[in-house]
Amino acid sequence: MDLGIAGKRALVSASSKGLGLGCARALAEAGVHLVMNARGADALEAAAADIRTTYDVDVTTVAADVTTENGRAAVLEAAGQPDILITNAGGPPPGLWSDWERDDFIAALDANMLTPIALMKALLPGMIDRGWGRVVNITSQSVKAPIAILGLSNSARAGLTGYVAGTSRQVAPHGVTINNMLPGVHDTDRIEALDSATAQSTGLPIDQVRADRKATVPAGRYGTADEFGQMCAFLCSQHAGFIVGQNILLDGGATNATL
Ligand code: NAP
Repeated sequence: MDLGIAGKRALVSASSKGLGLGCARALAEAGVHLVMNARGADALEAAAADIRTTYDVDVTTVAADVTTENGRAAVLEAAGQPDILITNAGGPPPGLWSDWERDDFIAALDANMLTPIALMKALLPGMIDRGWGRVVNITSQSVKAPIAILGLSNSARAGLTGYVAGTSRQVAPHGVTINNMLPGVHDTDRIEALDSATAQSTGLPIDQVRADRKATVPAGRYGTADEFGQMCAFLCSQHAGFIVGQNILLDGGATNATL
C-alpha cells in the first residue's frame, strides 16, 4: 500500500532500538526523511546508517536525553518543522506504591507525560499552519489495564492520555491527527532485560520465563518492533486522517476486554 507520505519529514524520539526504531524504519520504508534520537551515540549512528543505506532517505541524528530541557532543545533544533512526530522515551522503573515519593512522580511525569507534551506544543503550531500533521505517542498497554508494579508509568501515561484526548479534538480541524499506540509485550531490549531479571529472581531458566509469559498472550508470542512500526507508519499515512484521539492497543489479545 502506498502510504502517500514519501518526502515528508519526521522526528522520532528514542529511536535507536526497540519500538522507536521500528517506527523509524517503517516511516523510512514509506519514503519519510528522519530525525532520530537516543542518548547513546553508537547504537543511534549504527541504526541511522542502516536506514540510510536500506531506504535512501535523509537521516539526522541527535544524541541527547529527550526528557531534559537541553536534550529536547537540541532535538527540536535539528528537527525544524517536521510533518510527523513520534514521541517515545524509556519507561519509569518498577516498584511498590509505598516506595514512591514526590520526586519519583516528578521524574516519571517529566519523562512520560511532560516530554511528549512539550514536543507536541513545539511542533503542533507548524503542522496547523501547513494544514497537515501526524503525531503518534508510544504509551503502554498499562493505560487500559494497570500493571501494578509500574505505578509510576500507569500514572504518567494516564496523564498524557487525558491530554491527548482533548488536544487531538482541538487540532483535528487543521488536518492534524494525534493518536497513541499502546504496546503489550514486544520483543525488545527492555523485555529481554525484564525477562532476565525474572529469571534471576525466580531461578527459572530464561526460556521458561519467556514461555510462561508468551502463554499469557492469546497470540502465543511476543510482538515485534517491525509490526509495531508498520502500524505507526499507517497512523502517519494519508489514509489515517479520520483516526483522531484513539488509543490503539497492540498486545496480541492479552488485555481481556470487550472494548
Ligand atoms: P528499548 O528496547 O529499551 O529501547 C528504548 C529506546 O529509547 C532506545 O533507543 C534508547 O536508547 C532510547 N531512550 C530511552 N530513554 C531515552 C531518553 N531519555 N532520551 C532519548 N532516548 C531514550 O525500549 P522499548 O521496548 O522499545 O520501549 C519503548 C517504550 O515503550 C518505553 O517507554 C516502554 O516503557 C514502552 N513499552 C514497551 C513495551 C515492550 O514490550 N517493549 C511494553 C509496554 C510499554 P538510549 O538508551 O541510548 O537512550
